[in-house]
Amino acid sequence: MQPIYKFNVSPSLPDTLEPLRKLAYNLHWDWNTDTKDLFQRLDRDLWESSRHNPVLMLGTISQQRLQEVAEDEGFIAHMNRAALQLDDYLTNRPWYRQQRGKEREKQGSDSEYYAYFSAEFGLCRALPIYSGGLGVLAGDHLKSASDLGLPLVGVGLLYQEGYFAQYLNADGWQQERYPINDFYNLPLHPIRNPDGSELRISVDYPGRTVYARAWRVQVGTVSLYMLDTNIEPNSQYDQDITDQLYGGDKDLRIHQEIMLGIGGVKLLKALGLNVTAYHMNEGHSAFMALERMRMLMQEEGLSFEAAEQVVVSSSMFTTHTPVPAGFDLFPAEMVMHYLGHYAEIFGLSREEFLALGRENTGDFSAPFNMAIFAIRMSGFINSVAKLHGKVSRAMFQHLWNALPTEEVPVTSITNGVHARSCVAKETQELYDRYLGPEWSTSGANKERLWRRVLSIPDEELWRNHERRRAELVVFARDWLVKCLEERGASLKEIEQAKDVLDPGVLTIGFARRFATYKRATLFLRDLDRLKRMMNHADRRVQFVIAGKAHPKDMPGKELIRDIVHTARDEGMHDWLVFLPNYDIEMSRLMVAGCDVWLNTPRRPREASGTSGMKAAMNGLPNLSVLDGWWDEADYARTGWAIGHGEMYDDPNYQDEVEANDLYDLLEKEVIPLFYDRDADEIPHGWVTKMKDAVRLNCPTFNTARMVKDYARRAYFVLSDRYVAMTEDRCQPAKELAQWKHRVERDWYEMKIDSVEISDSTDVQVNQPIFVKAWLDLAALQPEDVTVELYRGEVDDRGNIINGTPVAMEYCGKEGDRSLYRAEIAYNVSGLQGLSLRVLPDHPGLSNPHEMGLILWAQ
Ligand SMILES: *Cc1c(COP(=O)(O)O)cnc(C)c1O
Repeated sequence: MQPIYKFNVSPSLPDTLEPLRKLAYNLHWDWNTDTKDLFQRLDRDLWESSRHNPVLMLGTISQQRLQEVAEDEGFIAHMNRAALQLDDYLTNRPWYRQQRGKEREKQGSDSEYYAYFSAEFGLCRALPIYSGGLGVLAGDHLKSASDLGLPLVGVGLLYQEGYFAQYLNADGWQQERYPINDFYNLPLHPIRNPDGSELRISVDYPGRTVYARAWRVQVGTVSLYMLDTNIEPNSQYDQDITDQLYGGDKDLRIHQEIMLGIGGVKLLKALGLNVTAYHMNEGHSAFMALERMRMLMQEEGLSFEAAEQVVVSSSMFTTHTPVPAGFDLFPAEMVMHYLGHYAEIFGLSREEFLALGRENTGDFSAPFNMAIFAIRMSGFINSVAKLHGKVSRAMFQHLWNALPTEEVPVTSITNGVHARSCVAKETQELYDRYLGPEWSTSGANKERLWRRVLSIPDEELWRNHERRRAELVVFARDWLVKCLEERGASLKEIEQAKDVLDPGVLTIGFARRFATYKRATLFLRDLDRLKRMMNHADRRVQFVIAGKAHPKDMPGKELIRDIVHTARDEGMHDWLVFLPNYDIEMSRLMVAGCDVWLNTPRRPREASGTSGMKAAMNGLPNLSVLDGWWDEADYARTGWAIGHGEMYDDPNYQDEVEANDLYDLLEKEVIPLFYDRDADEIPHGWVTKMKDAVRLNCPTFNTARMVKDYARRAYFVLSDRYVAMTEDRCQPAKELAQWKHRVERDWYEMKIDSVEISDSTDVQVNQPIFVKAWLDLAALQPEDVTVELYRGEVDDRGNIINGTPVAMEYCGKEGDRSLYRAEIAYNVSGLQGLSLRVLPDHPGLSNPHEMGLILWAQ
């Protein structure tokens, strides 16, 4: 039966409880422990059964219970305190103003917005619209942007079914369930036009228009806008565009990415926000650049080149994978079918258009690569850890011709995690007491603050941690029992589950997506050796494992089954526990309650990894392969490194070596340190490592630091450049585009005629060398180029490595030739090389390599 009317019915609250509504609709409750406590206190069972969703709670709680708490002065006081905290939080976020606001207010600048596009956002359990680390990172990015008062908005898709819930069948094989997200009972606001009607945007797809409405979720001061196509008059197929995260086939995927990128830009326009910087978190949203260029051409009358210039000046791209196989690829035919009309608008031929997303623009058979396209459209590109930066620069080097790898303009901003979202409540309170409440956003420059970690009494830190471990054990047992009951398992199995794990035993945690490169079963390689550790008389170890495999990843699912089977068949079920349906909330319990956080990726496949950071903030030492963030952490003091950062050609041999190293570390280091207790059962050596984990990792691997880096190094710069490029009806962008056109045309006429050095090839350390160079600039002007010496050590293949550029000075013309001069000296001995190169130079370029032009002396 279809209804003839629909109503959006909101909960009815007694007047005194009205503040609960505001608290429920701002996700601030997710990281403000006081507010979270308040909702738990309101109704503990309902809190659990609603999947930690205060809006649903308020909608379904009994009138009687509301009446009870309305008369409970303790509750009212608690509620009012939480409401005050929220008000104070919303009005008092000074970082952005201190950094930038005052200056801009003085200039009378308009307010600016930075738009952060992501296919997934992991914010809280109630919103299952994320699959793993990428989503949680995006969620933490919004939370920290809010903490800093940054004018950032998120843009994403609101999935009707979201990402799947995992359960296991009796054989340990992963099954998927797709619970429906009930938008009206979630902390979501439908977006309306000023006249109260539903705001809708429309996107052209072949032969039809698809409509989407928008929802907002409030993350502190940051709004996250999400599109939803599940409305009339869209066809059933189109309604399902926003049905599942990473579901469906390639066709559906391109539909989604069109909606995210193109629909997202249209939404920002409909909202009337003055967006001055566009951030693509992964390549899924890269089609945004097409729509922005179309708008600039059709609405501002720009040429394609000028429109492209505006977009490049104000866009940025964060890449999250170290392997080409990780990129989204679409067949050329498919791209032309869905997006060919943009080629027409841009005045580009088919191959010119497709070349925007091809590494080798001359390869007409290559698919369209979203990462390559995102790179071409961005004036700032970053990877997510230092090692990942190195790998990415090598991977993308081809896009910049003969540029030395270390100069490829792909920088790195190491990921972080949001401290108040991942540190256990009681541990936060402990840090608040000893370090002061600023710890959660303070950087490593606050040395005095971080030194105070050492003043926490060992006993207090340890007892707190033991309680977290005990909580995890209780949770794990209850959770297993619940999962087994749901599956209809035997009574024997259920009874067994009530007894798993021991709250006094060294607990090793491993939880993340079950992608095969993460090698979740590496620690099972030598079962006899493992059993000796598990069954030791008084120095046991136990393992808690969790994670989902992508529904189509059969090898990933096999790893899960292997773990379940091993636990069962090898009599390890008490000491090796797999917890189904890993999510944000389970992650929080695990990173707080385990003793060691294990990670065994195949280096360098783990771009960053973030769960280990969450664990470190809770005081857990990491035990991990030197990959991602761990490679740049103080791994000796805050945990243990498996291997020494080697790479292997033979994966089987690699597994053998690294599994052995893992066992050695457990037997010789981890277990002895953990069980080395004083008379009061305190392991002081271990506690020292815990303190170091907090003290040395928390300030750095924190999204407070990360978002500040993004703001200073990218958002502010892009935003200023956008304003500069678009003033005066985009005149500067038009001029820069013309300049580029001219420089590209004349570049190859230019020649380096001759180079003269003052001394012979034998020089001494610090002896000055004078260099003169004569260039024929042809049609170019001296101000169009920079001429640089490029000097550095020569490797065994005769190449300059880790070279540094030294600018040469223009000294006027000698006839047709331009003279350049510089003086250098070598401050180290050995075989050193010198070369000379020319790069384009214009103040509007985001970096000297934006155009990919470079002329080297031969
Ligand atoms: C933090 C987190 C991740 C990321 O874990 P990695 O170790 O970086 O792979 C994945 N899923 C959830 C639910 C998380 O909370």
